[in-house]
Amino acid sequence: MDLDYSADERAFRDEVRAWLATNLPPALRDKVARYGHLTRDELMTWHRILAAQGWVAPAWPTEWGGTPWNVVQRYLFEEECGYAGAPPLMPFGLAMCAPVLLKFGSDAQKARFLPRIYRGDDFWCQGYSEPGSGSDLASLRTSAVRTGDRYVVNGQKIWTTLAHMADWIFCLVRTDATRDRRQDGISFLLIDMKSPGITVRPLILMDGAHEVNEVFFDDVEVPVENRVHDEGSGWTVAKYLLGHERMNTARIGTSKRELEQLKTFAAAQRKDGKSLLDDPRFRDKLSRLEIELTALAITNLRFLDRLRGGRPPGAEVSMLKIKGTEIQQRLTELMLEAAGPLAQVVGPADGDTESDDLLAALAPRYCNMRKTTIYAGSNEIQRNIVAKHVLGL
Ligand SMILES: Cc1cc2nc3c(=O)[nH]c(=O)nc-3n(C[C@H](O)[C@H](O)[C@H](O)COP(=O)(O)OP(=O)(O)OC[C@H]3O[C@@H](n4cnc5c(N)ncnc54)[C@H](O)[C@@H]3O)c2cc1C
Repeated sequence: MDLDYSADERAFRDEVRAWLATNLPPALRDKVARYGHLTRDELMTWHRILAAQGWVAPAWPTEWGGTPWNVVQRYLFEEECGYAGAPPLMPFGLAMCAPVLLKFGSDAQKARFLPRIYRGDDFWCQGYSEPGSGSDLASLRTSAVRTGDRYVVNGQKIWTTLAHMADWIFCLVRTDATRDRRQDGISFLLIDMKSPGITVRPLILMDGAHEVNEVFFDDVEVPVENRVHDEGSGWTVAKYLLGHERMNTARIGTSKRELEQLKTFAAAQRKDGKSLLDDPRFRDKLSRLEIELTALAITNLRFLDRLRGGRPPGAEVSMLKIKGTEIQQRLTELMLEAAGPLAQVVGPADGDTESDDLLAALAPRYCNMRKTTIYAGSNEIQRNIVAKHVLGL
């Protein structure tokens, strides 16, 4: 097993790093560094800069705009973007719907949707979860009844991230409720969010942010041509997509940057002539976190080495999700601890200084990041997967 980057890979990393230093707009970088909530415009600005460079969808086939990068280069690119403080690329179109279309979509569906996703013309959201159907997704009840060349959709989705910004939603719906096996009778539909009968209602998270929504469908008509794969094959599509979703949750580059930020921040917290980094208890916590992050990065390199050799990572990818999200949460806890009472700024910062903005964002950020161990399949479910498929329990 080779866990070192080759000379070519290091050269590639330097090229990406140099490009980011010139092309990442400072205003976006600063907002990310202060944990600001990005608007659709800000998210799509970065998307379009990468699209213009030809780097927005490295994993896609080259005929659709992907890069010829190998799996290590793709990882290095992601890590460098995270480390530089680039806005996240929204995965719903690029990394969820597109891989599904590439694998299961008709030629007409690919031609219609992929270029628009690539350019950032359409903003997508994911309609899987329903009340009572999160971990137990196969129990979903939103129904789609076929009448002629349309489906009529009725039901409700929940926790739909950024549905209020979205042009399209991909949904799992039940097209046949008579099947014994619950996984059968589910289909995968692409639905225009402007369709009559769709209502989006905000769910405000504990930090006060509007990120997720309830989406209601009342007699929403969807053309049959918007179904991906065969009727009743939605579960096959869903499982394929979930594997992609979990590959994207470790966010190692972002955590590396936030660890640096935490160290700088802690070094600046001084009392009686000493910095917080001189406190052995705090240093101990910081070191443990750094060791965990280093171990995660090495684990990730092990998976990359497997992928480089053409072997799929399999269920172990759940380990990346578990550890990656735990580290993200721990970072917010230690930032809060380092700030101490200074983090008690309530409400929007008065904007006097950048450091006020950062302090004001710490407690909301701490609250917001509790979500990471729930979404993309909760960490308890990931542990079940590891226990069953990796440890054979
Ligand atoms: C911020 C956020 C954004 C989200 N965005 C989206 C989105 O865009 N689209 C979408 O479709 N969904 C989205 N989700 C939904 C997410 O996928 C579900 O919340 C998640 O799958 C858990 O489902 P649930 O909320 O119904 O909880 P439940 O499934 O009811 O689980 C409740 C608790 O029980 C545990 N549990 C459940 N079953 C087991 C088991 N078998 N063994 C051990 N423990 C178990 C869970 O881990 C959890 O702690 C989002 C969720 C959040 C919080």
